Amino acid sequence: MAEKTWKAETIAVQGAYEPGNGDPRVVPLALSTTFAYDSAQDVADLFDLKTFGHFYTRLSNPTVAAFEGKMCMLEGGAGALACASGQSATSLAIMNICQAGQHVVAASTLYGGTYNLLSHTLPKFGINCTFVDQKAPAQEIAAAIQDKTRLVFGEALSNPGTEVLDFEKFAGVAHAAGIPLIVDNTFPTPYLCRPFDFGADIVVHSSSKYLDGHAVSLGGVIVDSGRFNWANGRFPELTEPDESYHGMSYTGAFGELAYIVKARAQLTRDLGAVMSPMNAWLANLGLETLHIRMERHTENATRLAEWLAHDKRVQWVKYPGLKNDPNHALARKYLKGMSGVLTFGVRGGAQAGERFMNSLRLAKLVVHVADTRTCVLHPASMTHRQLSPEQQQAAGVTPELIRVSVGIENIDDIIADFDQALAVACQG
Ligand SMILES: *Cc1c(COP(=O)(O)O)cnc(C)c1O
Repeated sequence: MAEKTWKAETIAVQGAYEPGNGDPRVVPLALSTTFAYDSAQDVADLFDLKTFGHFYTRLSNPTVAAFEGKMCMLEGGAGALACASGQSATSLAIMNICQAGQHVVAASTLYGGTYNLLSHTLPKFGINCTFVDQKAPAQEIAAAIQDKTRLVFGEALSNPGTEVLDFEKFAGVAHAAGIPLIVDNTFPTPYLCRPFDFGADIVVHSSSKYLDGHAVSLGGVIVDSGRFNWANGRFPELTEPDESYHGMSYTGAFGELAYIVKARAQLTRDLGAVMSPMNAWLANLGLETLHIRMERHTENATRLAEWLAHDKRVQWVKYPGLKNDPNHALARKYLKGMSGVLTFGVRGGAQAGERFMNSLRLAKLVVHVADTRTCVLHPASMTHRQLSPEQQQAAGVTPELIRVSVGIENIDDIIADFDQALAVACQG
């Protein structure tokens, strides 16, 4: 099959949808909750997971499946499950192998929502988390792992701190303990980084960001590498009979797809946080230009970071693409491009920063990141405001930090906008 040798750009445009004779050329939008069958036996077999097929959109849908298939190919995985949002993807990815009384080890530089999930919401369900400094040596991270730890979690390129995960260190620590590494690959996207190539076992995404790319649809996805050995004695929920499926064992029945089939069959069945066909259709359309956009986001962010780094009104700039950035070496090792997000501080602290943000014209102040339009956000007062000052510090959020998501407009126009806003900020 030609698809096996396709490169990322071709997969982004054409992956996972092969029209038959006379079929629509573009992935059709199947706005249907349900699907018709000829016999009761057909439907019974679907319910028993004896055959694969769509029967109810909470479990699967052809448009959602096209998006899942393309994401799976882009990441180089075995199977994928699209979810209602990035947050639901992360929640389900963890809950699929973690229950009350068990434990997670996570890097502390995480998206605010994920940090809250792990530090407040999951503990209410008996799942606790130890946060580790991702720059710590492997032995220190390994020391946080307990008998009841079921997974290690990190962000490929952290939001907003732009810290690059040392995949090999984290995968080494996780695998030595017989547990998987789950990576949130939202910021690099599979075009700039494929975590499975560096030892990650499961990848999660918020497709609300670069995958959709245009800020029109919320969504998330879990991709399973199919490579983790669930039969190592630590994951009975995958190897032992599932009472809710007539005593079926996931590893026995589905082999390398055990994890992702269980997530769909149990968790979306019972919790229902699935992606809508409309959002899958939009995200899938967005993916067609992923490679072009990610290259331009990287190019523009690099130009803006360099310009800011040479401006006296700017106190500091953080972007993995800058040669003196603390993450530059890791970024060169793991990322094909540095993506479009940078952070910086205006001289004059939080107040000057606020004046700067209020004075921008082309760039808008929004609670979003990673779409075509340049935008800014102040994490301390917005996405990370529920965190204590200490937690903000651990997540890399300082009071003056401004996060910039550099869009794909003309870079001269972006720089001109920043120039005029800095002038206003530093007058006052
Ligand atoms: C936005 C984001 C999320 C959450 O995704 P939603 O689609 O907003 O639920 C998770 N991780 C990262 C890195 C994000 O940027």
